[in-house]
Amino acid sequence: MVLINLLQYSLSSSPRLGPSGQRDTLLDERADLSGSPEDMALDCALPGDSEDSGSGSFGCPTDNIDDLWSGAGIYLDDLKTSAAFVRELQQATLGDATQGLSCEGLDCLRNPLRGHPSTSVDEDARLAIDLYLGTPSEAMYETVHAAILRRWPGTDLPSYYKAKRLVADLSGVEPLVHDMCMNSCIAYTGLFLELESCPVCSQPRYDQFWLQASDGKDRTPRQEFHTIPIGPQIQVLYRAPETAVHAHYLRQERSRVLSEVESKGCLAEYSDVLHGSDLIDAFEDGRIEEDDIVLMFSIDGAQLYAKKASACWIYI
Ligand SMILES: [Zn+2]
Repeated sequence: MVLINLLQYSLSSSPRLGPSGQRDTLLDERADLSGSPEDMALDCALPGDSEDSGSGSFGCPTDNIDDLWSGAGIYLDDLKTSAAFVRELQQATLGDATQGLSCEGLDCLRNPLRGHPSTSVDEDARLAIDLYLGTPSEAMYETVHAAILRRWPGTDLPSYYKAKRLVADLSGVEPLVHDMCMNSCIAYTGLFLELESCPVCSQPRYDQFWLQASDGKDRTPRQEFHTIPIGPQIQVLYRAPETAVHAHYLRQERSRVLSEVESKGCLAEYSDVLHGSDLIDAFEDGRIEEDDIVLMFSIDGAQLYAKKASACWIYI
């Protein structure tokens, strides 16, 4: 069992994502967010570990988790696939087109928008936004788009691409879209990027009617998965004064907690997750500093196998 400590995203109080072109990998980008790569270290703790033991009770070196995924000694196909995905994640770059981030989205991430959006929204644009948010795929958007134009030919209804850009400009957040199996088995990323059918259930990736009608040119996915990246969501908090104030709650509460602990030795009341000893320790030893943004999350268990003989909690 691997315990990965709190993943700490640190930003200055104004969005600061580092100079473009200076970082190569996602891990580098993450280090750039913190300004302190040590803060971002993922600690591996195995049962029976102690600080000076240097290895876990299973004989696994705790200081080199990467060795677990090197491929040597992995024989099960599922584990080989997992190891390959871990390596892909380690080598992923923001500029990699297969990650789904557009050039505009990447530019926004590196140069955050400031202030309220200036884009005006007329009735047709509003209709396109509703359509974009209310349809599950580009194909569905285009179908409804064509139907509306057939009924009301004079409508200046933006294309799917323009509607997507409009939503991204207004919100500052652009979804990352990947094809997925229609039965939700897998997303076509990483090792599965070029597959034309699901390796689990064998269902075709693309709509076979359009694929055959176009001699293989129309590759419309049967299902898409939209990821809302966290970086732009954090940045957009600073585009309006009221949400920026909310984003400073940690800073204010951290200051209050530290001063109360220093003066009284403990807190009079424990009423917030920030009052837990793990976070107070992180405040005191400087792992969480005054201007840090801390991303916290909680998830349910994930069932790995159909026989339900296992359960795990995945931390990313
Ligand atoms: Zn499938």
